[in-house]
Amino acid sequence: MGYKCVVLIKQVPDTKRIAGEVMNDDGTVNRAALPAIFNPEDLNALEMALQITDKYGGHITVVTMGPAAASAILRDSLFRGADDAILITDRRCAASDTLATSYILSCAVKKLDYDIVLCGRQAIDGDTAQVGPQLAEKLGVPQITYVEELIELDGKGITAQRNIGNGWQQVKSALPVLLTVTGDANEPRVAAARKMMKYKKARTPIEVEEKIKDENPDANKKDIQELVTHKCGELEEKGLLIKQWDLDFVGADLNWCGMGGSPTKVRRIQSVILTAKESRDVEPNEKGIADMIHELIEDKTIA
Ligand code: FAD
Repeated sequence: MGYKCVVLIKQVPDTKRIAGEVMNDDGTVNRAALPAIFNPEDLNALEMALQITDKYGGHITVVTMGPAAASAILRDSLFRGADDAILITDRRCAASDTLATSYILSCAVKKLDYDIVLCGRQAIDGDTAQVGPQLAEKLGVPQITYVEELIELDGKGITAQRNIGNGWQQVKSALPVLLTVTGDANEPRVAAARKMMKYKKARTPIEVEEKIKDENPDANKKDIQELVTHKCGELEEKGLLIKQWDLDFVGADLNWCGMGGSPTKVRRIQSVILTAKESRDVEPNEKGIADMIHELIEDKTIA
């Protein structure tokens, strides 16, 4: 047996560290001023895939769409036990909203053979939790969201427990399936020293190119290209060239990518500033709570 797992991972700014100096005047976040990290719930998705392949065997491919710097989380995934890693990078992906992002990811995943696609529940920057469900729709596979535990895998189907906020639900599905995994699902393992030694020099072609350009500021385009081809060939021989795909390779329709493929329009960004200056005590009894709820309904805070 064995299960072919594809894990979608995203590099995100560490939004826990947002403080005054990383906010732009227009209310947007200056991403460059924050350290880039592995989206936390994507680590839980990777860990779930690792636990599946530890138990049943199989193969794990991690996929991310992002700039050259996102190669770091692909390497990190190899350190933790993933078998294969793919960077989707292309300038024409820029300004993609969740619809375009999930379309591009679906084109890439369709090129892979899979039984289980795993996503994090939500990314800590975009925060929409839309990409997983949209991706399942575009792949035409069932989805189980908010997965906290895998109950059973029997070769043809899966039973998973999802957290629905005020309780739990066990859902059965046929394979292939897409899961979105919550932060409570497991404790992600750390990188293995042996795998770090093996993959520490693994690079994507775009990283190779950036380094060669830095080291040869006066070289022309043709010379740079030759150096890149040579270095990538060396890495490939050693099994250290991380795959890199562009929109042409995944066969994406450009009308569905980037700005043109993104119907979301951000009309206004608002900083929410809490104006209440003092706290109020509510009597810890039925009447105190009923009065507070009545007041919140009156001022339309709750419906
Ligand atoms: P969620 O839906 O919360 O993520 C859920 C899960 O989906 C993740 O845990 C992960 O498993 C998977 N996932 C999400 N994104 C990726 C990814 N990139 N690769 C692999 N797996 C993934 N972002 C930019 O970086 N550059 C831009 O130019 C840009 N322009 C935008 C323009 C508009 C109008 C809008 C609305 C958004 C833009 N974004 C841009 C943000 C981008 O659309 C989102 O970051 C992206 O669609 C993912 O959405 P999310 O962060 O809400 O992820």
